[in-house]
Amino acid sequence: MRIAFIGPPGAGKGTQAERLSDRLGITSLSTGEVLREAQHSGTPAGREIAARLAAGQLVSDDLVLRIVADRLAEADCQHGYLFDGFPRTVAQAEELAGLLEDQGSSLDAAVLFEAAEEVLLERLASRGREDDTVEQIRQRLADYAQITRPVAAYYADRGMLLRIDAAGEPDVVYRRLIEGLKLED
Ligand code: AMP
Repeated sequence: MRIAFIGPPGAGKGTQAERLSDRLGITSLSTGEVLREAQHSGTPAGREIAARLAAGQLVSDDLVLRIVADRLAEADCQHGYLFDGFPRTVAQAEELAGLLEDQGSSLDAAVLFEAAEEVLLERLASRGREDDTVEQIRQRLADYAQITRPVAAYYADRGMLLRIDAAGEPDVVYRRLIEGLKLED
Protein backbone atom coordinates (compact mmCIF):
# COMPACT_ATOMS: atom_id res chain seq x y z
CA MET A 1 0.00 0.00 0.00
CA ARG A 2 1.06 3.58 -0.65
CA ILE A 3 -0.34 6.14 1.74
CA ALA A 4 0.29 9.80 2.56
CA PHE A 5 -0.52 11.40 5.93
CA ILE A 6 -1.42 15.07 5.89
CA GLY A 7 -2.32 17.22 8.87
CA PRO A 8 -1.27 20.14 11.03
CA PRO A 9 1.64 19.92 13.47
CA GLY A 10 0.48 18.19 16.64
CA ALA A 11 -2.22 16.09 14.93
CA GLY A 12 -0.45 12.86 15.89
CA LYS A 13 0.64 11.83 12.38
CA GLY A 14 3.96 10.42 13.59
CA THR A 15 2.38 8.22 16.26
CA GLN A 16 -0.20 6.85 13.85
CA ALA A 17 2.35 6.44 11.05
CA GLU A 18 4.48 4.23 13.29
CA ARG A 19 1.53 2.02 14.20
CA LEU A 20 0.02 1.74 10.74
CA SER A 21 3.32 1.09 8.96
CA ASP A 22 4.07 -1.69 11.48
CA ARG A 23 0.62 -3.15 10.96
CA LEU A 24 0.99 -3.08 7.16
CA GLY A 25 4.66 -4.04 7.11
CA ILE A 26 5.58 -1.02 5.01
CA THR A 27 8.25 1.67 5.36
CA SER A 28 7.31 4.83 7.18
CA LEU A 29 8.92 7.90 5.60
CA SER A 30 8.89 11.10 7.63
CA THR A 31 10.31 13.93 5.52
CA GLY A 32 10.63 15.96 8.75
CA GLU A 33 12.78 13.23 10.28
CA VAL A 34 15.01 13.02 7.18
CA LEU A 35 15.36 16.80 7.13
CA ARG A 36 16.22 17.00 10.83
CA GLU A 37 19.07 14.58 10.17
CA ALA A 38 20.15 16.24 6.90
CA GLN A 39 20.51 19.68 8.51
CA HIS A 40 23.75 18.54 10.16
CA SER A 41 25.39 17.33 6.94
CA GLY A 42 27.56 20.49 6.60
CA THR A 43 26.61 20.89 2.91
CA PRO A 44 24.92 23.99 1.41
CA ALA A 45 21.65 22.00 1.31
CA GLY A 46 22.15 21.11 4.99
CA ARG A 47 22.59 24.77 5.88
CA GLU A 48 19.46 25.76 3.93
CA ILE A 49 17.49 23.06 5.74
CA ALA A 50 18.82 24.15 9.15
CA ALA A 51 17.77 27.76 8.51
CA ARG A 52 14.30 26.72 7.41
CA LEU A 53 13.72 24.41 10.35
CA ALA A 54 14.94 27.06 12.80
CA ALA A 55 12.39 29.50 11.35
CA GLY A 56 9.60 26.91 11.41
CA GLN A 57 9.29 27.31 7.64
CA LEU A 58 8.77 24.71 4.96
CA VAL A 59 11.85 23.45 3.14
CA SER A 60 11.86 24.09 -0.63
CA ASP A 61 9.89 21.72 -2.84
CA ASP A 62 13.03 20.97 -4.90
CA LEU A 63 14.99 19.77 -1.92
CA VAL A 64 12.15 17.75 -0.43
CA LEU A 65 11.33 16.13 -3.76
CA ARG A 66 14.96 15.18 -4.32
CA ILE A 67 15.03 13.50 -0.91
CA VAL A 68 11.77 11.66 -1.59
CA ALA A 69 12.80 10.50 -5.08
CA ASP A 70 16.10 9.13 -3.72
CA ARG A 71 14.33 7.39 -0.86
CA LEU A 72 11.68 5.80 -3.11
CA ALA A 73 14.40 4.18 -5.20
CA GLU A 74 15.64 2.19 -2.18
CA ALA A 75 14.81 -1.47 -1.68
CA ASP A 76 12.62 -1.04 1.40
CA CYS A 77 10.16 1.10 -0.56
CA GLN A 78 9.43 -1.38 -3.31
CA HIS A 79 6.47 -2.94 -1.51
CA GLY A 80 4.76 0.15 -0.27
CA TYR A 81 5.35 3.07 2.05
CA LEU A 82 3.66 5.58 4.24
CA PHE A 83 4.60 9.25 3.91
CA ASP A 84 4.37 11.12 7.18
CA GLY A 85 4.16 14.86 6.49
CA PHE A 86 4.54 14.72 2.71
CA PRO A 87 3.24 16.14 0.41
CA ARG A 88 2.92 19.51 2.16
CA THR A 89 2.36 21.67 -0.95
CA VAL A 90 0.19 21.14 -4.02
CA ALA A 91 3.37 21.28 -6.13
CA GLN A 92 4.77 18.36 -4.11
CA ALA A 93 1.53 16.41 -4.60
CA GLU A 94 1.68 17.01 -8.37
CA GLU A 95 5.34 16.05 -8.59
CA LEU A 96 4.73 12.92 -6.54
CA ALA A 97 1.88 11.89 -8.83
CA GLY A 98 4.24 12.28 -11.81
CA LEU A 99 7.02 10.36 -10.12
CA LEU A 100 4.69 7.48 -9.28
CA GLU A 101 3.08 7.52 -12.71
CA ASP A 102 6.53 7.00 -14.24
CA GLN A 103 6.76 3.83 -12.13
CA GLY A 104 3.26 2.78 -13.18
CA SER A 105 1.85 3.33 -9.69
CA SER A 106 -0.09 5.84 -7.62
CA LEU A 107 -1.05 6.52 -4.03
CA ASP A 108 -3.83 4.34 -2.60
CA ALA A 109 -4.99 6.96 -0.15
CA ALA A 110 -4.22 10.34 1.38
CA VAL A 111 -5.27 10.62 5.02
CA LEU A 112 -6.10 14.01 6.49
CA PHE A 113 -5.84 14.23 10.30
CA GLU A 114 -8.01 16.99 11.71
CA ALA A 115 -8.18 18.45 15.22
CA ALA A 116 -9.10 21.75 16.83
CA GLU A 117 -6.27 24.20 17.43
CA GLU A 118 -6.52 23.80 21.26
CA VAL A 119 -5.83 20.08 20.86
CA LEU A 120 -2.84 20.72 18.57
CA LEU A 121 -1.34 23.36 20.86
CA GLU A 122 -1.72 21.14 23.91
CA ARG A 123 0.02 18.23 22.18
CA LEU A 124 2.82 20.42 20.82
CA ALA A 125 3.39 21.91 24.28
CA SER A 126 3.83 18.47 25.81
CA ARG A 127 6.12 17.23 23.01
CA GLY A 128 8.95 19.75 23.49
CA ARG A 129 10.74 19.20 20.16
CA GLU A 130 13.46 21.67 19.16
CA ASP A 131 11.21 23.41 16.60
CA ASP A 132 8.26 23.61 18.99
CA THR A 133 8.80 27.13 20.34
CA VAL A 134 5.78 29.46 20.32
CA GLU A 135 7.08 31.44 17.31
CA GLN A 136 7.91 28.35 15.24
CA ILE A 137 4.58 26.75 16.05
CA ARG A 138 2.72 29.89 14.98
CA GLN A 139 4.61 29.88 11.67
CA ARG A 140 3.97 26.17 11.07
CA LEU A 141 0.25 26.43 11.82
CA ALA A 142 -0.07 29.43 9.49
CA ASP A 143 1.80 27.62 6.70
CA TYR A 144 -0.37 24.59 7.23
CA ALA A 145 -3.58 26.60 6.80
CA GLN A 146 -2.34 28.49 3.74
CA ILE A 147 -0.05 26.07 1.94
CA THR A 148 -0.69 22.51 3.10
CA ARG A 149 -4.47 22.45 3.62
CA PRO A 150 -5.04 22.82 -0.18
CA VAL A 151 -3.25 19.48 -0.61
CA ALA A 152 -6.28 17.85 1.05
CA ALA A 153 -8.54 19.44 -1.58
CA TYR A 154 -6.18 18.17 -4.30
CA TYR A 155 -6.72 14.58 -3.12
CA ALA A 156 -10.43 15.08 -2.38
CA ASP A 157 -10.91 16.20 -6.00
CA ARG A 158 -9.35 12.91 -7.08
CA GLY A 159 -11.48 10.80 -4.74
CA MET A 160 -8.44 9.74 -2.71
CA LEU A 161 -8.95 11.60 0.57
CA LEU A 162 -9.81 9.94 3.87
CA ARG A 163 -10.57 12.41 6.68
CA ILE A 164 -9.82 11.27 10.22
CA ASP A 165 -10.85 12.97 13.45
CA ALA A 166 -7.49 13.21 15.24
CA ALA A 167 -8.88 14.23 18.65
CA GLY A 168 -8.71 11.69 21.46
CA GLU A 169 -6.34 8.99 22.62
CA PRO A 170 -3.94 7.36 20.10
CA ASP A 171 -5.82 4.04 20.35
CA VAL A 172 -9.11 5.69 19.45
CA VAL A 173 -7.60 7.55 16.50
CA TYR A 174 -5.90 4.37 15.30
CA ARG A 175 -9.24 2.55 15.33
CA ARG A 176 -10.80 5.28 13.20
CA LEU A 177 -7.89 4.98 10.81
CA ILE A 178 -8.14 1.19 10.46
CA GLU A 179 -11.88 1.43 9.89
CA GLY A 180 -11.50 4.33 7.46
CA LEU A 181 -8.98 2.38 5.40
CA LYS A 182 -11.21 -0.73 5.60
CA LEU A 183 -8.47 -2.85 7.11
CA GLU A 184 -9.00 -5.87 9.33
CA ASP A 185 -7.48 -5.80 12.82
P1 AMP B 1 7.54 17.28 10.80
O1 AMP B 1 8.50 16.37 11.48
O2 AMP B 1 6.67 16.58 9.80
O3 AMP B 1 6.74 18.12 11.75
O4 AMP B 1 8.43 18.31 9.95
C1 AMP B 1 9.33 19.18 10.59
C2 AMP B 1 9.73 20.31 9.66
O5 AMP B 1 10.39 19.76 8.49
C3 AMP B 1 8.58 21.12 9.11
O6 AMP B 1 8.18 22.16 9.98
C4 AMP B 1 9.18 21.66 7.82
O7 AMP B 1 10.04 22.73 8.08
C5 AMP B 1 10.03 20.51 7.33
N1 AMP B 1 9.28 19.59 6.42
C6 AMP B 1 8.89 18.32 6.68
N2 AMP B 1 8.25 17.78 5.63
C7 AMP B 1 8.24 18.75 4.67
C8 AMP B 1 7.71 18.82 3.37
N3 AMP B 1 7.04 17.79 2.82
N4 AMP B 1 7.89 19.97 2.67
C9 AMP B 1 8.55 21.02 3.20
N5 AMP B 1 9.05 21.03 4.44
C10 AMP B 1 8.91 19.90 5.18
